[in-house]
Amino acid sequence: MLRSTYAVIHLPALLKNIRRAKRNLKPETKFLAVIKANAYGHGIVEVGRYLERTDAVDMLAVAIPEEGVQLREGSVKLPILILGVTDAAHNALVVSNDLTAAVFTPEQVYALEVCAKSIGRDALVHLKLDTGMRRIGVLDNAQLDAVLDAFDACPHVRMTGVFTHFAKSESDPAFTRLQAQRFEAFVARIRARGFRPVVHACNSAGTLDYPEYQYDMVRFGIALYGCHPDPRRTECSGLTPVMSLYTHISNLKTLPAGEGVSYGLRYVTSHPTRIATLPIGYGDGYKRCLTGKADVLVGGVRCPQIGTICMDQMMVDVTDVPDVAVGDEVVLIGRQGREQITADELAALADTISYEILLSVSFRVPRLYEE
Ligand SMILES: *Cc1c(COP(=O)(O)O)cnc(C)c1O
Repeated sequence: MLRSTYAVIHLPALLKNIRRAKRNLKPETKFLAVIKANAYGHGIVEVGRYLERTDAVDMLAVAIPEEGVQLREGSVKLPILILGVTDAAHNALVVSNDLTAAVFTPEQVYALEVCAKSIGRDALVHLKLDTGMRRIGVLDNAQLDAVLDAFDACPHVRMTGVFTHFAKSESDPAFTRLQAQRFEAFVARIRARGFRPVVHACNSAGTLDYPEYQYDMVRFGIALYGCHPDPRRTECSGLTPVMSLYTHISNLKTLPAGEGVSYGLRYVTSHPTRIATLPIGYGDGYKRCLTGKADVLVGGVRCPQIGTICMDQMMVDVTDVPDVAVGDEVVLIGRQGREQITADELAALADTISYEILLSVSFRVPRLYEE
């Protein structure tokens, strides 16, 4: 039997969000779906398989080689880019699983050449350029020339792409333009050496707001899952949330005024209060710092969460819900009746971003996939 706490992943919403993004793009622009970190909590293999089966994207991206291997073991055949730094110790895993590594130093290229030769299969790489994020990538022309020399010396390492990452594309057009100019100068230098890689820069914010920087491909992450990278704009963005989070009332009681509730008795009832217990807590990824801040939906009514959120359970005030009963459905993220709670709403209350709310939903919460 299914746990009464679960997440519903509405897969067709992924396609809707991709269609929304493509409204801004040229028809020939390639589309990469970022499905790192368990597809932002949505399930990496299920999302990867669905996107492949529906022919919706040209490429997938993950953060670390292990995630790429997980997709291959799940029979996903699409090209897969690893966005982060691949440890040399993982090179054999990368080459043998046909994963594409991000590289930016000659040492990385030489190490892959040795590995590719011994396995007997070319290593595929995208060259990473740092145009302002200051995280990973080639920083200047001297470094670029050195790594291009390494490519020339390594016939088994194929540079199939080149990319950069925007640092402020959800909020700073001037800095984004500066990054794009630096990127285009780097790309011109790479082309002048005879390389013909697929060129890409845009994350979700770039894809939605800067079609002028779409180049050959875009990398779509958070917006694929229905959140705008700028939380103030999610509502008017035309994006559809993919994940809903549900539980069901496990216990119900009415307490008189003056009763303390949950650990530390930090919440004290100020009037006779109908209190529901829910079988979800921070062990399921419902953040403890939401204590006393978040609402849930019961019977289409917004109900305040009260008392310290526990590891496995928490309480809510359902005084305003008529005919409330044990077993009633509770929405923590998603719609019920006319009300909606978004990941952005919880993110604001928890002083974080929608990304972290979605991918906090823990392994203990079963995902139900809807087509
Ligand atoms: C995570 C990531 C993305 C996706 O970013 P979103 O803001 O989720 O669209 C794109 N590119 C790189 C390099 C990333 O690390």
